[in-house]
Amino acid sequence: MAVVITAQSQTNKTENVVIVTLDGMRWQEVFGGADEILAADSSYTRDRKGIKAKFGGSTAAERRQKLFPFFWTSIARQGQLYGNRQLGNKMDNANRYWFSYPGYNEIFTGYPDTAINSNDKIQNPNENVLEFLNKQKGFTGKVAAFTTWDVFPYILNSKRSGILVNADVDTLRFNNPALQLVNDMQLLSTRPIGVRPDIFTYMAAREYLKAYQPRVLYIAFDETDDFAHGGMYDQYLGSAHAEDAMIGDLWKTLQQLPQYKNKTTLIVTCDHGRGDKKKSNWQHHGSNIEDAHELWMAVIGPDTPPAGELSAPAQIYQEQIAATIAGLLGFTFTANHPVAAPISSLYKK
Ligand SMILES: [Zn+2]
Repeated sequence: MAVVITAQSQTNKTENVVIVTLDGMRWQEVFGGADEILAADSSYTRDRKGIKAKFGGSTAAERRQKLFPFFWTSIARQGQLYGNRQLGNKMDNANRYWFSYPGYNEIFTGYPDTAINSNDKIQNPNENVLEFLNKQKGFTGKVAAFTTWDVFPYILNSKRSGILVNADVDTLRFNNPALQLVNDMQLLSTRPIGVRPDIFTYMAAREYLKAYQPRVLYIAFDETDDFAHGGMYDQYLGSAHAEDAMIGDLWKTLQQLPQYKNKTTLIVTCDHGRGDKKKSNWQHHGSNIEDAHELWMAVIGPDTPPAGELSAPAQIYQEQIAATIAGLLGFTFTANHPVAAPISSLYKK
């Protein structure tokens, strides 16, 4: 476990944090690229030739570069990637449920509460790091979340926390032409997974960032999980690839704005894993899927040593992310519940 920060640190360069999650995205594809068995299986992949041409390759390194080009160029060179279990580097859920609400609760509260055990729209009693930061000087009104899934206002308890949580097709009520355009598009679009497509969540977040300059921004994508449940491996890969491009576009946007350039840490992770040991379990997750607790995380920012893909045997947990977000900004996260220690290797000098 990492060392607890004992005092408010003034030494970090990070002044803003952006967090992005890919729902139910497996570490197997992040580190290994497209799975050759699933991509060749007609029951999961309709356009096998096209997928092979786009994401195929003879080595894992070649395949992952094609699927996640931003991860494996920029983050691999300038940041850190946790969770390649083939190298013994492990990241796991500390909660025992291995599905979305418990996972997001764990990420943002640092507390794998056993009472958080459903995806129902229940106001989360646990305080989260976003609302903690929103109470700090210089951060109030500067914390926002844009999410595809419509349960996030409950997970982050926007009623209590007071932070902006824009979910699914919540109206984008901003006096800003770009956000008004995104609003029209999200309302007029088809909804292949029953909520707004991830691209609208991203564009709303990006245009909000440009116009209102939040200190802490959270973007939650959803498509990968839905396409996996639907057994559509080609669509799952397509969404993962598009989300990598959005994250690359986000990083480029951050580096073009003086408020963010060289002062912003980006954390990308997931809420839970999915099965792999039994191949057909790639579609599924939850505590009855033995390997669905296996996670990954990618980080890039001015305080993160450029270690790239972490190859040393190590173990971190999702519950450590909340304190890490606060620690990057020089705060020690405290709440109405226990909080796990931060991952100090992420911003150790
Ligand atoms: Zn799911």
